[in-house]
Amino acid sequence: MNRVLNYINGHDVPPSTGAYMEKTDPRTGARLGEVAASGKPDVDAAVAAASAALPAWRAMRPSERGRILVEIARAVRDSDGTLGRIESDETGKPGREMPQLMALTAQYFEFYGGIVNAMDGEVVNVGPDYHVYTRRDPFGVIGIILPWNAPLHQAARAIAPALACGNVVVAKPSEFTSGSLIAFARLAEAAGLPPGVLNVVLGTGPALGPALATHRDVRKVSFTGSTRAGRELGRIAADRMLPLTLELGGKSANIVFADADLDAAAKGCTTAFTWNGGQWCAAGTRLLVQSSIHDAFVDKLLTSVAGVRVGPDPAASYGPMTTRAQFEKVQESFDAARRLGLVPAIGGRVAQGAGMEKGWFIEPTVYLNVSNDMEIAREEIFGPVLCVIRFEDETDAIRIANDSDYGLAAGIWSRDIGRVHRVAGALEAGRIVVNEYSGGFVQTPCGGFKHSGYGREQGVEALAHYTQLKSVIIRL
Ligand code: NAD
Repeated sequence: MNRVLNYINGHDVPPSTGAYMEKTDPRTGARLGEVAASGKPDVDAAVAAASAALPAWRAMRPSERGRILVEIARAVRDSDGTLGRIESDETGKPGREMPQLMALTAQYFEFYGGIVNAMDGEVVNVGPDYHVYTRRDPFGVIGIILPWNAPLHQAARAIAPALACGNVVVAKPSEFTSGSLIAFARLAEAAGLPPGVLNVVLGTGPALGPALATHRDVRKVSFTGSTRAGRELGRIAADRMLPLTLELGGKSANIVFADADLDAAAKGCTTAFTWNGGQWCAAGTRLLVQSSIHDAFVDKLLTSVAGVRVGPDPAASYGPMTTRAQFEKVQESFDAARRLGLVPAIGGRVAQGAGMEKGWFIEPTVYLNVSNDMEIAREEIFGPVLCVIRFEDETDAIRIANDSDYGLAAGIWSRDIGRVHRVAGALEAGRIVVNEYSGGFVQTPCGGFKHSGYGREQGVEALAHYTQLKSVIIRL
């Protein structure tokens, strides 16, 4: 990586500001290169390019749009690993994860490329003297603002349905992980996507987010990121009735009942908070354990966590924190826990070891006997930090799990099928995973309750969020 430029109308475009931000390697602290620090004129240029590309893209038969999306998927699958290498370097993710993450990126284009052929309105029967039907129209130019924790996965899950529905896109990746989306946009164009249909502008959130959201030709914004920034966008959006999809933060509860397979639960609950070093919106960071099995389960959990290996190498369980700010934020959470009198049962430190001297590595960390009203159990940390909280019975578990401003995801570990359905129904979260803790599938809608956001990405449901429904009422 050296200098990463905007990608507008099929061209590399330097920022109008002439300014660049330094990109640091999270594994080593070394300089990786620099990234355009663009401004409003660059957003204007990208929106103009998208607007010019809109009529032809929108008028294209859905089957033809779908074919191009499937070609993009094929190009991602056939690429020589470059996309994965860029993303791994920018985020610090272990190399072993990249083939799977790139395959997931491709799956979004396969899924939406296929389903666009079945996207339809319906005929509404109001009697013989009318012919009434609904149709789904694209919005036009869609702004897509993205975070740094799973850059291409999150880009694909918003860009693929947006394009499938006949919209054109101006995407803004995180300033910390810009290179992979630029490489992707180039690859998509080589696979047949017309220039201007997908544009990428690079820069900070405060410089570009409001410029996108206030642009009169941007008709919808899909935002994935922090609740703080989502709230700021929401204020702007209110002024111009801009539709938003907000995929925000979480503090998800993972509930282990006494009747669960405790060995499987210990492993699953470990992955739930350590995958990607906890830099995962849906991470299961509040572990609710039934009192009757608490001590036995905690033993198994700590053994499992002790097997997690943080490091800079491709085979590590997870790599560094992707940004220095995140590295510092996790350490601040350790200080906050110390002030509350909490002592980590494991971890609680910056990770030491060969190759980690200058990087941003954090040990997997578990706090026991946490009370749900403590700050550490209420605020999203976005690092490998687990709070273990006891509960007595089902009612108690549901009460504690729902006592959170967030509602992104939750886990249930139990062999009692009746309980599983009761609890799944009662939990205030957008995704409930039972007897594993995973991120769901391309086909499963994803989104939050409460401060975790609104709107949905993924699944057939996303088509409803990238189109506006129109009724046509014809008097016969
Ligand atoms: P962030 O909010 O700081 O940044 C996300 C994006 O928004 C970046 O591109 C950033 O430049 C931009 N941005 C920042 N301030 C902005 C503003 N005022 N207006 C418009 N855009 C702005 O978040 P992050 O640190 O990149 O990502 C971590 C957060 O994202 C966590 O809270 C995590 O839970 C959340 N997240 C949610 C999901 C989900 O699907 N719900 C997925 C991944 C991450």
